[in-house]
Amino acid sequence: MHHDANHLSSRGLELPPTELLIDGRWEASASGLRFDSIDPATGQVITSIARGHATDVDRAVGAARRALERKTWRLMSGAQRGRLLYRLAELLEQDRETMVQLESMDAGKPLAATRRQDLPAAIDCLRYYAGWADKLEGQVVSARSDALTYVLREAVGVVGAIVPWNFPLMNAVWKIAPALACGCTIVLKPAELTPLSALRLGELALLAGLPEGVLNIVPGFGTEAGEALIRHPGVDKIAFTGSPQVGKHIMRTAAEDCKRITLELGGKSANIVFADADLSASVKASTSGIFFNAGQVCSAGSRILVARPIYEDFVRAFCERAAQIKLGDPFESGTTMGPVISAQQKDRILKAIHHGQAEGAKLALGGGDPAGAGFFVPPTVFVDVDNRMSLAQDEIFGPVASIIPFDTEQDAIGIANDSRYSLAGAVWTRDIDRAHRVASAVRSGTVWVNTFGHTDTRLPWGGFGKDSGLGRDLGKAALDNYTDLKTVWLQLSSMAQS
Ligand code: NAD
Repeated sequence: MHHDANHLSSRGLELPPTELLIDGRWEASASGLRFDSIDPATGQVITSIARGHATDVDRAVGAARRALERKTWRLMSGAQRGRLLYRLAELLEQDRETMVQLESMDAGKPLAATRRQDLPAAIDCLRYYAGWADKLEGQVVSARSDALTYVLREAVGVVGAIVPWNFPLMNAVWKIAPALACGCTIVLKPAELTPLSALRLGELALLAGLPEGVLNIVPGFGTEAGEALIRHPGVDKIAFTGSPQVGKHIMRTAAEDCKRITLELGGKSANIVFADADLSASVKASTSGIFFNAGQVCSAGSRILVARPIYEDFVRAFCERAAQIKLGDPFESGTTMGPVISAQQKDRILKAIHHGQAEGAKLALGGGDPAGAGFFVPPTVFVDVDNRMSLAQDEIFGPVASIIPFDTEQDAIGIANDSRYSLAGAVWTRDIDRAHRVASAVRSGTVWVNTFGHTDTRLPWGGFGKDSGLGRDLGKAALDNYTDLKTVWLQLSSMAQS
Protein backbone atom coordinates (compact mmCIF):
# COMPACT_ATOMS: atom_id res chain seq x y z
CA MET A 1 0.00 0.00 0.00
CA HIS A 2 1.51 3.29 -1.08
CA HIS A 3 0.28 5.68 1.53
CA ASP A 4 2.24 8.86 1.57
CA ALA A 5 -0.10 10.80 3.84
CA ASN A 6 1.30 13.05 6.53
CA HIS A 7 3.74 14.89 4.35
CA LEU A 8 3.29 18.61 4.60
CA SER A 9 2.67 21.32 2.04
CA SER A 10 4.76 24.48 2.00
CA ARG A 11 1.88 26.13 3.88
CA GLY A 12 2.42 23.53 6.59
CA LEU A 13 -0.77 21.59 5.85
CA GLU A 14 -0.97 17.84 6.15
CA LEU A 15 -1.58 16.39 2.69
CA PRO A 16 -3.88 13.50 1.83
CA PRO A 17 -2.68 10.38 0.00
CA THR A 18 -1.59 11.33 -3.51
CA GLU A 19 -2.21 7.96 -5.20
CA LEU A 20 -5.26 6.45 -6.87
CA LEU A 21 -7.96 4.94 -4.68
CA ILE A 22 -8.89 1.63 -6.30
CA ASP A 23 -10.72 -1.22 -4.61
CA GLY A 24 -10.14 0.22 -1.16
CA ARG A 25 -6.38 0.65 -1.59
CA TRP A 26 -4.09 3.53 -2.48
CA GLU A 27 -2.17 2.55 -5.59
CA ALA A 28 0.34 4.10 -7.96
CA SER A 29 -0.77 4.63 -11.55
CA ALA A 30 0.19 1.86 -13.96
CA SER A 31 2.40 4.27 -15.91
CA GLY A 32 4.09 5.57 -12.77
CA LEU A 33 3.51 9.09 -14.12
CA ARG A 34 2.51 11.96 -11.86
CA PHE A 35 1.28 15.53 -12.24
CA ASP A 36 1.68 18.61 -10.08
CA SER A 37 -1.05 20.35 -8.15
CA ILE A 38 -0.34 24.08 -7.97
CA ASP A 39 -1.22 26.65 -5.32
CA PRO A 40 -2.86 29.34 -7.49
CA ALA A 41 -2.05 32.09 -4.99
CA THR A 42 1.68 31.51 -5.29
CA GLY A 43 2.17 29.49 -8.47
CA GLN A 44 4.15 26.99 -6.34
CA VAL A 45 3.80 23.23 -6.63
CA ILE A 46 1.88 21.82 -3.65
CA THR A 47 2.63 18.19 -4.38
CA SER A 48 2.55 15.66 -7.17
CA ILE A 49 -0.35 13.30 -7.72
CA ALA A 50 -0.57 9.90 -9.45
CA ARG A 51 -1.76 10.49 -13.00
CA GLY A 52 -4.46 8.02 -14.00
CA HIS A 53 -4.73 6.69 -17.55
CA ALA A 54 -6.97 4.20 -19.32
CA THR A 55 -5.43 1.15 -17.59
CA ASP A 56 -6.08 2.66 -14.17
CA VAL A 57 -9.61 3.68 -15.10
CA ASP A 58 -10.21 0.14 -16.32
CA ARG A 59 -9.05 -1.26 -12.99
CA ALA A 60 -11.21 1.24 -11.10
CA VAL A 61 -14.30 0.44 -13.18
CA GLY A 62 -13.63 -3.28 -12.66
CA ALA A 63 -13.43 -2.70 -8.90
CA ALA A 64 -16.65 -0.67 -8.95
CA ARG A 65 -18.41 -3.42 -10.95
CA ARG A 66 -17.25 -6.16 -8.56
CA ALA A 67 -18.27 -4.05 -5.55
CA LEU A 68 -21.71 -3.65 -7.07
CA GLU A 69 -22.14 -7.43 -7.27
CA ARG A 70 -20.54 -8.19 -3.92
CA LYS A 71 -22.92 -9.04 -1.07
CA THR A 72 -21.42 -6.40 1.22
CA TRP A 73 -22.93 -3.73 -1.03
CA ARG A 74 -25.66 -5.48 -3.03
CA LEU A 75 -27.37 -6.87 0.05
CA MET A 76 -26.76 -3.87 2.26
CA SER A 77 -30.06 -2.28 3.30
CA GLY A 78 -30.87 1.32 2.54
CA ALA A 79 -30.76 2.03 6.27
CA GLN A 80 -27.20 0.69 6.44
CA ARG A 81 -26.13 2.72 3.42
CA GLY A 82 -27.68 5.74 5.10
CA ARG A 83 -25.66 5.08 8.26
CA LEU A 84 -22.45 4.95 6.22
CA LEU A 85 -23.27 8.29 4.65
CA TYR A 86 -24.08 9.78 8.07
CA ARG A 87 -20.77 8.47 9.36
CA LEU A 88 -18.94 10.03 6.42
CA ALA A 89 -20.74 13.33 7.14
CA GLU A 90 -19.64 13.12 10.80
CA LEU A 91 -16.04 12.44 9.81
CA LEU A 92 -16.09 15.31 7.34
CA GLU A 93 -17.47 17.57 10.04
CA GLN A 94 -14.74 16.55 12.48
CA ASP A 95 -12.16 17.02 9.72
CA ARG A 96 -13.72 20.28 8.59
CA GLU A 97 -10.85 22.62 9.25
CA THR A 98 -8.26 20.37 7.54
CA MET A 99 -10.54 20.12 4.55
CA VAL A 100 -11.18 23.89 4.52
CA GLN A 101 -7.46 24.56 4.39
CA LEU A 102 -6.69 21.92 1.76
CA GLU A 103 -9.49 23.13 -0.48
CA SER A 104 -8.61 26.79 0.00
CA MET A 105 -4.99 26.11 -0.89
CA ASP A 106 -5.69 23.91 -3.89
CA ALA A 107 -8.49 26.04 -5.37
CA GLY A 108 -7.34 29.50 -4.21
CA LYS A 109 -10.47 30.21 -2.19
CA PRO A 110 -10.48 32.60 0.76
CA LEU A 111 -10.59 30.49 3.93
CA ALA A 112 -13.68 32.28 5.20
CA ALA A 113 -15.61 31.47 2.02
CA THR A 114 -14.68 27.79 2.11
CA ARG A 115 -15.71 27.67 5.77
CA ARG A 116 -18.99 29.39 5.13
CA GLN A 117 -19.99 27.72 1.88
CA ASP A 118 -18.13 24.65 0.63
CA LEU A 119 -17.81 22.57 3.77
CA PRO A 120 -21.29 23.14 5.22
CA ALA A 121 -22.81 22.44 1.79
CA ALA A 122 -20.89 19.18 1.38
CA ILE A 123 -21.73 17.97 4.90
CA ASP A 124 -25.38 18.91 4.50
CA CYS A 125 -25.54 17.09 1.17
CA LEU A 126 -24.18 13.86 2.69
CA ARG A 127 -26.74 14.03 5.51
CA TYR A 128 -29.63 14.81 3.20
CA TYR A 129 -28.99 11.79 0.95
CA ALA A 130 -28.21 9.61 3.98
CA GLY A 131 -31.83 10.31 4.89
CA TRP A 132 -33.04 9.22 1.45
CA ALA A 133 -31.16 5.91 1.41
CA ASP A 134 -33.95 3.98 3.17
CA LYS A 135 -36.82 5.88 1.58
CA LEU A 136 -36.42 4.84 -2.05
CA GLU A 137 -39.74 3.28 -2.80
CA GLY A 138 -41.16 1.40 -5.72
CA GLN A 139 -44.82 1.29 -6.56
CA VAL A 140 -47.49 -1.31 -6.95
CA VAL A 141 -49.43 -0.48 -10.10
CA SER A 142 -52.45 -2.71 -10.54
CA ALA A 143 -52.60 -2.93 -14.30
CA ARG A 144 -54.54 -6.21 -14.64
CA SER A 145 -56.67 -8.39 -12.41
CA ASP A 146 -54.74 -11.55 -13.35
CA ALA A 147 -51.29 -10.21 -12.54
CA LEU A 148 -49.42 -8.56 -9.75
CA THR A 149 -47.54 -5.71 -11.40
CA TYR A 150 -45.10 -3.53 -9.56
CA VAL A 151 -42.31 -1.11 -10.29
CA LEU A 152 -38.97 -1.32 -8.49
CA ARG A 153 -36.42 1.46 -8.24
CA GLU A 154 -32.97 -0.04 -8.73
CA ALA A 155 -29.45 1.42 -8.70
CA VAL A 156 -28.23 2.23 -12.23
CA GLY A 157 -24.90 0.55 -11.48
CA VAL A 158 -21.41 1.98 -11.96
CA VAL A 159 -21.32 5.79 -12.02
CA GLY A 160 -18.48 7.75 -13.60
CA ALA A 161 -18.39 11.16 -11.90
CA ILE A 162 -16.32 13.93 -13.50
CA VAL A 163 -16.12 17.24 -11.67
CA PRO A 164 -14.52 20.69 -12.14
CA TRP A 165 -12.16 22.75 -10.04
CA ASN A 166 -14.32 25.67 -8.91
CA PHE A 167 -16.10 23.85 -6.04
CA PRO A 168 -14.10 20.62 -6.05
CA LEU A 169 -15.35 18.98 -2.87
CA MET A 170 -18.91 20.25 -3.08
CA ASN A 171 -19.35 19.14 -6.69
CA ALA A 172 -17.90 15.71 -5.94
CA VAL A 173 -20.27 15.24 -3.00
CA TRP A 174 -23.25 16.41 -5.09
CA LYS A 175 -22.67 13.28 -7.21
CA ILE A 176 -21.29 10.84 -4.64
CA ALA A 177 -23.94 11.31 -1.93
CA PRO A 178 -27.04 10.54 -4.04
CA ALA A 179 -25.22 7.79 -5.99
CA LEU A 180 -24.25 5.98 -2.78
CA ALA A 181 -27.69 6.50 -1.25
CA CYS A 182 -29.16 4.78 -4.31
CA GLY A 183 -26.77 1.81 -4.06
CA CYS A 184 -24.51 2.67 -7.01
CA THR A 185 -20.75 2.34 -7.01
CA ILE A 186 -18.51 5.12 -8.27
CA VAL A 187 -15.38 6.05 -10.12
CA LEU A 188 -14.67 9.72 -9.40
CA LYS A 189 -12.31 11.75 -11.54
CA PRO A 190 -11.54 15.04 -9.81
CA ALA A 191 -10.32 18.00 -11.86
CA GLU A 192 -6.58 17.86 -12.53
CA LEU A 193 -6.25 21.37 -11.05
CA THR A 194 -7.81 20.44 -7.68
CA PRO A 195 -7.44 16.77 -6.73
CA LEU A 196 -6.64 17.17 -3.01
CA SER A 197 -10.06 17.44 -1.36
CA ALA A 198 -11.38 14.41 -3.27
CA LEU A 199 -8.39 12.35 -2.11
CA ARG A 200 -8.98 13.44 1.47
CA LEU A 201 -12.66 12.53 1.08
CA GLY A 202 -11.57 9.08 -0.14
CA GLU A 203 -9.49 8.67 2.98
CA LEU A 204 -12.52 9.58 5.13
CA ALA A 205 -14.78 7.23 3.16
CA LEU A 206 -12.47 4.32 3.99
CA LEU A 207 -12.49 5.39 7.64
CA ALA A 208 -16.28 5.52 7.56
CA GLY A 209 -16.26 1.87 6.52
CA LEU A 210 -17.42 2.14 2.93
CA PRO A 211 -16.83 -1.32 1.44
CA GLU A 212 -13.84 -1.61 -0.87
CA GLY A 213 -14.47 -0.69 -4.48
CA VAL A 214 -17.64 1.27 -3.78
CA LEU A 215 -15.88 4.63 -4.17
CA ASN A 216 -12.82 4.70 -6.43
CA ILE A 217 -10.91 7.90 -7.16
CA VAL A 218 -8.75 8.31 -10.23
CA PRO A 219 -7.12 11.75 -10.51
CA GLY A 220 -5.79 12.63 -13.93
CA PHE A 221 -6.32 14.72 -17.02
CA GLY A 222 -9.58 15.08 -18.89
CA THR A 223 -8.13 13.82 -22.14
CA GLU A 224 -6.61 10.78 -20.41
CA ALA A 225 -8.47 9.50 -17.34
CA GLY A 226 -11.65 11.46 -18.19
CA GLU A 227 -11.77 10.25 -21.76
CA ALA A 228 -11.19 6.63 -20.67
CA LEU A 229 -14.04 6.88 -18.16
CA ILE A 230 -16.61 8.26 -20.60
CA ARG A 231 -15.70 5.57 -23.17
CA HIS A 232 -15.62 2.65 -20.76
CA PRO A 233 -18.39 0.15 -21.56
CA GLY A 234 -18.51 -0.88 -17.89
CA VAL A 235 -19.79 2.54 -16.84
CA ASP A 236 -23.58 2.83 -16.70
CA LYS A 237 -23.87 6.53 -16.06
CA ILE A 238 -21.77 9.65 -16.41
CA ALA A 239 -22.47 12.49 -13.99
CA PHE A 240 -20.59 15.53 -15.25
CA THR A 241 -20.06 19.13 -14.19
CA GLY A 242 -17.84 21.30 -16.35
CA SER A 243 -17.65 23.18 -19.61
CA PRO A 244 -20.28 23.04 -22.39
CA GLN A 245 -17.62 21.92 -24.84
CA VAL A 246 -16.67 18.83 -22.83
CA GLY A 247 -20.31 18.21 -21.87
CA LYS A 248 -21.34 17.99 -25.51
CA HIS A 249 -18.41 15.71 -26.24
CA ILE A 250 -19.56 13.46 -23.39
CA MET A 251 -23.09 13.43 -24.77
CA ARG A 252 -21.86 12.34 -28.20
CA THR A 253 -19.52 9.73 -26.74
CA ALA A 254 -22.16 8.37 -24.36
CA ALA A 255 -24.44 7.80 -27.34
CA GLU A 256 -22.15 4.91 -28.37
CA ASP A 257 -23.65 2.66 -25.72
CA CYS A 258 -26.52 4.86 -24.53
CA LYS A 259 -24.96 5.65 -21.18
CA ARG A 260 -27.19 7.69 -18.95
CA ILE A 261 -25.86 11.23 -18.55
CA THR A 262 -26.44 14.35 -16.54
CA LEU A 263 -24.59 17.48 -17.60
CA GLU A 264 -24.20 20.54 -15.44
CA LEU A 265 -22.50 23.02 -17.75
CA GLY A 266 -21.99 26.76 -18.04
CA GLY A 267 -24.00 29.91 -17.48
CA LYS A 268 -24.34 33.59 -18.29
CA SER A 269 -26.97 34.46 -15.75
CA ALA A 270 -29.05 37.61 -16.16
CA ASN A 271 -29.52 39.52 -12.94
CA ILE A 272 -32.37 41.96 -13.64
CA VAL A 273 -32.72 45.03 -11.43
CA PHE A 274 -35.94 47.05 -11.84
CA ALA A 275 -36.27 50.69 -10.87
CA ASP A 276 -38.42 49.88 -7.82
CA ALA A 277 -35.84 47.46 -6.36
CA ASP A 278 -34.15 47.93 -2.99
CA LEU A 279 -31.06 49.55 -4.46
CA SER A 280 -28.58 48.85 -1.69
CA ALA A 281 -29.67 45.21 -1.28
CA SER A 282 -29.49 44.65 -5.04
CA VAL A 283 -26.05 46.26 -5.31
CA LYS A 284 -24.74 44.16 -2.45
CA ALA A 285 -26.04 40.85 -3.79
CA SER A 286 -25.16 41.66 -7.39
CA THR A 287 -21.55 42.38 -6.44
CA SER A 288 -21.13 39.07 -4.64
CA GLY A 289 -23.24 37.48 -7.40
CA ILE A 290 -20.46 38.06 -9.90
CA PHE A 291 -17.32 38.34 -7.75
CA PHE A 292 -17.84 35.40 -5.36
CA ASN A 293 -15.17 32.73 -6.00
CA ALA A 294 -13.48 35.22 -8.37
CA GLY A 295 -16.41 34.81 -10.76
CA GLN A 296 -15.62 31.14 -11.27
CA VAL A 297 -19.18 30.07 -10.62
CA CYS A 298 -21.43 28.49 -13.23
CA SER A 299 -24.35 30.62 -12.03
CA ALA A 300 -22.35 33.86 -11.67
CA GLY A 301 -24.53 36.91 -12.29
CA SER A 302 -22.27 38.03 -15.10
CA ARG A 303 -24.96 40.02 -16.96
CA ILE A 304 -26.48 42.70 -14.78
CA LEU A 305 -29.51 44.26 -16.45
CA VAL A 306 -30.41 47.59 -14.87
CA ALA A 307 -33.48 49.77 -15.51
CA ARG A 308 -32.62 53.18 -17.00
CA PRO A 309 -34.08 55.36 -14.20
CA ILE A 310 -31.67 53.88 -11.64
CA TYR A 311 -28.86 53.01 -14.03
CA GLU A 312 -26.36 55.74 -13.06
CA ASP A 313 -26.98 55.28 -9.32
CA PHE A 314 -26.64 51.52 -9.57
CA VAL A 315 -23.42 51.66 -11.57
CA ARG A 316 -21.84 54.12 -9.15
CA ALA A 317 -22.78 52.08 -6.05
CA PHE A 318 -21.79 48.81 -7.72
CA CYS A 319 -18.34 50.07 -8.71
CA GLU A 320 -17.79 51.54 -5.25
CA ARG A 321 -18.57 48.22 -3.67
CA ALA A 322 -16.52 46.22 -6.17
CA ALA A 323 -13.55 48.50 -5.51
CA GLN A 324 -13.66 47.50 -1.83
CA ILE A 325 -13.04 43.85 -2.61
CA LYS A 326 -9.75 42.80 -1.11
CA LEU A 327 -7.80 40.73 -3.59
CA GLY A 328 -5.13 38.66 -1.94
CA ASP A 329 -3.80 35.45 -0.50
CA PRO A 330 -6.66 33.13 0.50
CA PHE A 331 -4.97 32.44 3.85
CA GLU A 332 -4.71 36.12 4.84
CA SER A 333 -7.56 37.31 7.00
CA GLY A 334 -9.43 40.11 5.31
CA THR A 335 -8.99 38.68 1.82
CA THR A 336 -12.36 38.63 0.09
CA MET A 337 -11.21 37.47 -3.33
CA GLY A 338 -8.47 34.99 -4.12
CA PRO A 339 -6.67 34.21 -7.36
CA VAL A 340 -8.25 32.47 -10.34
CA ILE A 341 -7.43 28.82 -10.72
CA SER A 342 -4.52 28.79 -13.17
CA ALA A 343 -2.24 30.82 -15.40
CA GLN A 344 -4.26 29.59 -18.36
CA GLN A 345 -7.56 30.68 -16.81
CA LYS A 346 -6.07 34.10 -16.03
CA ASP A 347 -4.93 34.38 -19.61
CA ARG A 348 -8.41 33.48 -20.91
CA ILE A 349 -10.02 36.09 -18.67
CA LEU A 350 -7.58 38.84 -19.67
CA LYS A 351 -8.22 38.02 -23.34
CA ALA A 352 -11.97 38.32 -22.79
CA ILE A 353 -11.41 41.72 -21.11
CA HIS A 354 -9.28 42.98 -24.00
CA HIS A 355 -11.80 41.67 -26.45
CA GLY A 356 -14.56 43.51 -24.57
CA GLN A 357 -12.62 46.75 -24.85
CA ALA A 358 -12.01 46.14 -28.54
CA GLU A 359 -15.76 45.59 -29.04
CA GLY A 360 -16.37 49.06 -27.62
CA ALA A 361 -17.64 48.24 -24.14
CA LYS A 362 -16.76 50.82 -21.51
CA LEU A 363 -14.40 49.66 -18.78
CA ALA A 364 -15.47 51.25 -15.47
CA LEU A 365 -13.27 49.32 -13.07
CA GLY A 366 -10.36 46.90 -13.06
CA GLY A 367 -8.98 45.38 -16.22
CA GLY A 368 -5.39 45.47 -15.02
CA ASP A 369 -2.91 42.66 -14.63
CA PRO A 370 -1.39 42.75 -11.15
CA ALA A 371 2.29 41.90 -11.17
CA GLY A 372 3.77 39.19 -8.99
CA ALA A 373 3.35 35.50 -8.43
CA GLY A 374 -0.05 33.89 -8.35
CA PHE A 375 -2.92 34.11 -10.78
CA PHE A 376 -4.75 37.26 -9.73
CA VAL A 377 -7.36 39.18 -11.74
CA PRO A 378 -8.90 42.27 -10.13
CA PRO A 379 -12.69 42.81 -10.03
CA THR A 380 -13.56 44.18 -13.45
CA VAL A 381 -16.71 46.04 -14.47
CA PHE A 382 -17.91 46.90 -17.96
CA VAL A 383 -20.80 49.33 -18.34
CA ASP A 384 -23.13 50.23 -21.24
CA VAL A 385 -22.65 46.72 -22.56
CA ASP A 386 -24.74 45.62 -25.53
CA ASN A 387 -26.11 42.09 -25.12
CA ARG A 388 -24.89 41.18 -28.61
CA MET A 389 -21.27 41.72 -27.59
CA SER A 390 -19.22 38.63 -26.84
CA LEU A 391 -18.77 40.08 -23.34
CA ALA A 392 -22.46 39.41 -22.78
CA GLN A 393 -22.75 36.22 -24.81
CA ASP A 394 -19.69 34.18 -23.79
CA GLU A 395 -19.07 32.75 -20.37
CA ILE A 396 -15.86 34.30 -19.01
CA PHE A 397 -15.67 32.35 -15.74
CA GLY A 398 -13.78 35.13 -14.04
CA PRO A 399 -14.42 38.35 -12.06
CA VAL A 400 -15.88 40.33 -14.96
CA ALA A 401 -19.29 42.02 -14.68
CA SER A 402 -21.18 43.35 -17.69
CA ILE A 403 -23.81 45.96 -16.87
CA ILE A 404 -26.53 46.37 -19.49
CA PRO A 405 -29.18 49.12 -19.39
CA PHE A 406 -32.81 48.33 -20.30
CA ASP A 407 -36.05 50.28 -20.83
CA THR A 408 -39.07 48.01 -20.38
CA GLU A 409 -39.91 44.72 -18.69
CA GLN A 410 -40.28 43.07 -22.10
CA ASP A 411 -36.89 44.44 -23.03
CA ALA A 412 -35.31 42.91 -19.94
CA ILE A 413 -36.91 39.50 -20.52
CA GLY A 414 -35.82 39.57 -24.17
CA ILE A 415 -32.22 40.34 -23.22
CA ALA A 416 -32.19 37.74 -20.44
CA ASN A 417 -33.38 35.00 -22.77
CA ASP A 418 -31.15 36.01 -25.67
CA SER A 419 -28.40 33.66 -24.51
CA ARG A 420 -26.95 30.24 -25.25
CA TYR A 421 -27.18 29.56 -21.52
CA SER A 422 -30.08 28.71 -19.23
CA LEU A 423 -28.72 27.93 -15.78
CA ALA A 424 -29.97 30.73 -13.52
CA GLY A 425 -31.23 34.28 -13.34
CA ALA A 426 -32.56 36.83 -10.87
CA VAL A 427 -35.10 39.60 -10.65
CA TRP A 428 -35.12 42.53 -8.25
CA THR A 429 -38.43 44.34 -7.75
CA ARG A 430 -40.92 45.24 -5.03
CA ASP A 431 -43.83 44.53 -7.38
CA ILE A 432 -45.04 41.01 -6.62
CA ASP A 433 -46.87 40.64 -9.94
CA ARG A 434 -43.81 41.62 -11.87
CA ALA A 435 -41.67 39.27 -9.79
CA HIS A 436 -43.89 36.34 -10.78
CA ARG A 437 -44.21 37.44 -14.40
CA VAL A 438 -40.50 37.78 -14.91
CA ALA A 439 -39.61 34.63 -12.91
CA SER A 440 -41.98 32.73 -15.18
CA ALA A 441 -40.69 34.30 -18.40
CA VAL A 442 -36.97 33.78 -17.77
CA ARG A 443 -35.87 30.47 -19.31
CA SER A 444 -33.53 29.07 -16.69
CA GLY A 445 -33.32 26.24 -14.17
CA THR A 446 -33.26 28.63 -11.20
CA VAL A 447 -34.67 32.13 -10.73
CA TRP A 448 -33.91 34.14 -7.60
CA VAL A 449 -36.22 36.98 -6.57
CA ASN A 450 -34.69 39.78 -4.50
CA THR A 451 -31.64 37.68 -3.75
CA PHE A 452 -28.85 36.02 -5.71
CA GLY A 453 -26.80 32.86 -5.77
CA HIS A 454 -28.34 30.53 -3.21
CA THR A 455 -28.37 26.80 -3.65
CA ASP A 456 -29.66 24.28 -1.15
CA THR A 457 -29.27 20.52 -1.04
CA ARG A 458 -33.06 20.14 -1.02
CA LEU A 459 -33.61 22.16 -4.20
CA PRO A 460 -32.94 20.80 -7.69
CA TRP A 461 -30.11 22.50 -9.54
CA GLY A 462 -29.38 22.44 -13.27
CA GLY A 463 -29.91 23.97 -16.67
CA PHE A 464 -32.85 24.34 -19.02
CA GLY A 465 -30.84 22.76 -21.83
CA LYS A 466 -28.56 24.49 -24.35
CA ASP A 467 -25.04 25.27 -23.11
CA SER A 468 -26.14 24.94 -19.48
CA GLY A 469 -26.80 21.24 -19.87
CA LEU A 470 -29.54 18.91 -18.72
CA GLY A 471 -30.61 16.90 -15.71
CA ARG A 472 -30.60 17.98 -12.10
CA ASP A 473 -28.20 17.71 -9.21
CA LEU A 474 -29.54 17.95 -5.65
CA GLY A 475 -33.00 17.53 -4.19
CA LYS A 476 -35.22 14.54 -4.65
CA ALA A 477 -34.71 14.99 -8.40
CA ALA A 478 -31.11 13.72 -8.24
CA LEU A 479 -32.35 10.30 -7.08
CA ASP A 480 -33.64 9.78 -10.62
CA ASN A 481 -30.05 10.15 -11.89
CA TYR A 482 -28.85 7.12 -10.00
CA THR A 483 -31.86 4.79 -10.16
CA ASP A 484 -33.81 3.18 -12.93
CA LEU A 485 -37.27 1.66 -12.92
CA LYS A 486 -37.86 -2.04 -13.30
CA THR A 487 -41.36 -3.28 -14.01
CA VAL A 488 -42.13 -6.73 -12.61
CA TRP A 489 -45.09 -8.61 -14.05
CA LEU A 490 -46.11 -11.58 -11.95
CA GLN A 491 -48.77 -13.64 -13.67
CA LEU A 492 -51.38 -15.03 -11.31
CA SER A 493 -52.43 -18.07 -13.32
CA SER A 494 -54.88 -19.37 -10.72
CA MET A 495 -56.80 -16.11 -10.90
CA ALA A 496 -56.81 -16.17 -14.68
CA GLN A 497 -58.38 -19.65 -14.65
CA SER A 498 -61.00 -19.16 -11.98
P1 NAD B 1 -13.74 21.28 -18.18
O1 NAD B 1 -14.97 20.85 -18.87
O2 NAD B 1 -12.51 21.47 -18.98
O3 NAD B 1 -13.34 20.27 -17.03
C1 NAD B 1 -14.29 19.69 -16.18
C2 NAD B 1 -13.88 18.26 -15.90
O4 NAD B 1 -13.96 17.53 -17.11
C3 NAD B 1 -12.44 18.11 -15.40
O5 NAD B 1 -12.40 17.09 -14.43
C4 NAD B 1 -11.70 17.66 -16.65
O6 NAD B 1 -10.57 16.89 -16.40
C5 NAD B 1 -12.76 16.82 -17.35
N1 NAD B 1 -12.55 16.66 -18.79
C6 NAD B 1 -11.96 17.52 -19.66
N2 NAD B 1 -11.94 17.00 -20.90
C7 NAD B 1 -12.52 15.77 -20.81
C8 NAD B 1 -12.79 14.73 -21.75
N3 NAD B 1 -12.44 14.83 -23.03
N4 NAD B 1 -13.41 13.63 -21.32
C9 NAD B 1 -13.77 13.49 -20.03
N5 NAD B 1 -13.53 14.43 -19.09
C10 NAD B 1 -12.92 15.55 -19.47
O7 NAD B 1 -14.20 22.58 -17.42
P2 NAD B 1 -13.41 23.39 -16.33
O8 NAD B 1 -12.48 24.28 -17.06
O9 NAD B 1 -12.88 22.47 -15.29
O10 NAD B 1 -14.59 24.21 -15.61
C11 NAD B 1 -15.07 25.41 -16.11
C12 NAD B 1 -16.41 25.21 -16.77
O11 NAD B 1 -17.27 24.37 -15.98
C13 NAD B 1 -17.16 26.49 -16.95
O12 NAD B 1 -17.59 26.60 -18.27
C14 NAD B 1 -18.35 26.40 -15.98
O13 NAD B 1 -19.48 27.07 -16.41
C15 NAD B 1 -18.57 24.96 -15.85
N6 NAD B 1 -19.13 24.65 -14.54
C16 NAD B 1 -20.46 24.38 -14.42
C17 NAD B 1 -21.03 24.10 -13.20
C18 NAD B 1 -22.50 23.75 -13.04
O14 NAD B 1 -22.92 23.39 -11.96
N7 NAD B 1 -23.31 23.86 -14.06
C19 NAD B 1 -20.21 24.08 -12.08
C20 NAD B 1 -18.87 24.36 -12.23
C21 NAD B 1 -18.35 24.65 -13.46
